[in-house]
Amino acid sequence: MPTIEEPARHVPLYGEYEVAVLGGGPAGIAAAVAAARAGRRTLLIERYGFLGGMGTAAGVTNFCGLHANVYGQMHRVVQGIASDLSARIDRLGGLNAPHLILGKILAQAYDAAAYKIAADDLLGTHRVDILFHALGAGVVMHDEKRIHALMVETKAGRRAITADIFIDCSGDGDLAAWAGARYEVGDNEGSMLYPSMMFRLNGVDPSKAGEAWRTIPALMEKAEAAGQHRFPRRAAIVRPQRSPIEWRVNFTQLARADGRAINGLEPDDLTRGELEGRRQAVDAFNFLRTVPGFENSYIVDLPPQLGIRETRRVIGGHMLSGADVLGCASFNDSIGVNGWPMESHVAGDVIFKFPPIPQSRGFNELPYRMLIPEGLDNLMVAGRCASMTHDGQSAARVSGACFAMGEAAGTAAALALDGNALPRELAVGRLQTRLKEEGVFMGRDQTVPDGV
Ligand SMILES: Cc1cc2nc3c(=O)[nH]c(=O)nc-3n(C[C@H](O)[C@H](O)[C@H](O)COP(=O)(O)OP(=O)(O)OC[C@H]3O[C@@H](n4cnc5c(N)ncnc54)[C@H](O)[C@@H]3O)c2cc1C
Repeated sequence: MPTIEEPARHVPLYGEYEVAVLGGGPAGIAAAVAAARAGRRTLLIERYGFLGGMGTAAGVTNFCGLHANVYGQMHRVVQGIASDLSARIDRLGGLNAPHLILGKILAQAYDAAAYKIAADDLLGTHRVDILFHALGAGVVMHDEKRIHALMVETKAGRRAITADIFIDCSGDGDLAAWAGARYEVGDNEGSMLYPSMMFRLNGVDPSKAGEAWRTIPALMEKAEAAGQHRFPRRAAIVRPQRSPIEWRVNFTQLARADGRAINGLEPDDLTRGELEGRRQAVDAFNFLRTVPGFENSYIVDLPPQLGIRETRRVIGGHMLSGADVLGCASFNDSIGVNGWPMESHVAGDVIFKFPPIPQSRGFNELPYRMLIPEGLDNLMVAGRCASMTHDGQSAARVSGACFAMGEAAGTAAALALDGNALPRELAVGRLQTRLKEEGVFMGRDQTVPDGV
């Protein structure tokens, strides 16, 4: 690509912080709240004007991974800040009761507006400073191991933010990549988990629709066999929201012309994905209107962006693997748990793989080392871009584990600053004690929390 030289310039300093968190999804919300709760001057930087990450910006509107199937019984295993946030959503009347997925695991839907309001409220309560409408765009390094400033683009121009510790919760590992961290992308064969364009329908007749999620797969097969519709993937998810006249639709799958997944790091791919995603949404809607109860429905929401499941996965001290998930692995440095199965969005399909039910405890622990990128001293990574293999990420990328990783990263950043230590030098026992005091379940010697 030809290049243009940009003259060097002096960039105004927006602020000096103890902890700066890039990205306001589940990981970033929890990281910023945890650091501020521990008394650290904390800034959360987000490119949109609201929090929630893919959960709001991509219309996901459903928590997975808060629960685990423990020897055949459902338990709410991700607690701590996630519980505080979901209670706030509930108080706004925006939280569904948990529902069963595939008869094996619970998920819990919510209203996007309630999530946004509850998250503002949560961060406000803990005095997190927020900078919305700021796109992280690069870093200035002290030296090759230490980040000096995060550079952001705003409507007022470019700004610099300094911090003692940075936490990359961008989902894409943007900050880690700019700082020179090593990372992997996708399945090492050029494809990632496929993205989807979510959308929601309103005007569904709940009495006629009933449990339509059970009948829709067979209706899809029939429509395809009759040559009436062609679907980009099997395993469509169509489920009611808090108000049963509104349903979310997770139906689409976005590929490049060569059949590989749209790459969420490439602007031209993203452009194609948005356009094709909306086209597929209309196709799916035309089919759904033939399903009893959906005849008078309409598309009430197409989210601000295409849903990206996987891009960069930063390499840290341990890469959580598919074997860790299926084997319900334990780690001495556990900082939380994941109870979601592997959920691989492959070409044309979605493949779930669960730990054995009911023989296994149904969750794996998440080691602190997942949050510590190799080679960088004042950077932590939490959420879907943390240190995981392609298979491990297909499970622990969902909201529950991202909240857990974020809460641990923010708490660890504050503790590291207390002790004038690097995050990687932190005595993990102290972190575990603090997380326990905050109501976090980490597996280990703790009793599995009761209830859902
Ligand atoms: C279609 C789809 C369906 C899904 N379904 C479910 C489900 O039902 N339940 C579930 O729990 N999970 C689901 N997931 C997964 C889940 O939503 C995400 O993996 C999870 O939100 C990841 O959390 P995160 O905080 O790591 O990152 P994200 O949620 O991706 O948040 C990252 C945040 O960082 C911001 N950001 C990124 N780069 C920059 C930058 N350079 N500058 C400033 N801000 C930046 C983004 O705007 C975003 O707000 C789904 C995902 C997709 C795509």
